[in-house]
Amino acid sequence: MTAAGPATTVSWAVLALPLAALLGLFVGSFLNVVVYRAPLGLSVVAPRSYCPTCDRQLAWWENLPVVSWLALRGRCHGCHEPISARYPLVEATTAGVFVLVTWTWHGNVLSIGYCTLAATALTVALVEYGGRRAPLGVGALGGTLGAVFVAGGAAWLGRWTVLGWSLGGAGAGALVLGMLRTRDPEAGDPRGHGRTLLPSAGCWLGGLGLAGALAGAATWLAVTFLCLVGLWTVHRRSDAGDDPAVGPRLPAIVAVPLVTSVLACMAVSLVVGT
Ligand SMILES: [Zn+2]
Repeated sequence: MTAAGPATTVSWAVLALPLAALLGLFVGSFLNVVVYRAPLGLSVVAPRSYCPTCDRQLAWWENLPVVSWLALRGRCHGCHEPISARYPLVEATTAGVFVLVTWTWHGNVLSIGYCTLAATALTVALVEYGGRRAPLGVGALGGTLGAVFVAGGAAWLGRWTVLGWSLGGAGAGALVLGMLRTRDPEAGDPRGHGRTLLPSAGCWLGGLGLAGALAGAATWLAVTFLCLVGLWTVHRRSDAGDDPAVGPRLPAIVAVPLVTSVLACMAVSLVVGT
């Protein structure tokens, strides 16, 4: 991006943004599979996508992101049972996030790493908001891939500050994650209420400069505080103290404060930091 006149801006955006949207749709389709199968300990690559009601494997044309759901009017082609609108929504959301990330990084190679980190955060959030716990492997694999892509992209562009701070951030996140898991009474349990996002969030913040990192950290604290106030209020009202039955009645975004605060932190820091 040396000669960044208006014409240059238009030309990269015309190519990069539709590509990001298309990639986001297919990644979103894969995330749907991961969100459904990973917490159940099932393989995310085999078998191919099937209808959860009639167990029939889907043809390629029934499995196109958003388009197939619309064409089939939200019903399975075989058993005509409704297919949740969640699937096309996740695909469209992932596409939107990829476009936003690519736009803020001006379509450069760092977009790849940041899209990977965003997809990881989205996956863990969807699992946790669905009332399940995201396996450690999802956050670890996504976070590691994202960090490698961010570091590789930064090295490619010669942006050594981004390289150093993003790896430092990922390392700090991994350290905190390790400490939390050690202190956890269920340390052997490979689950963790979104804690597996800490290395990804650290890498993300590290690459966005001081202003982005500070704005992100402030958002993180503010959202955590609001969620904790929400949790406390519900517990007090229910007058049930530690009754675990109180948990499921809470809105998911309040019940998993770490996930919600990480998502808010990532969104704000991206906008402020680039
Ligand atoms: Zn079916």
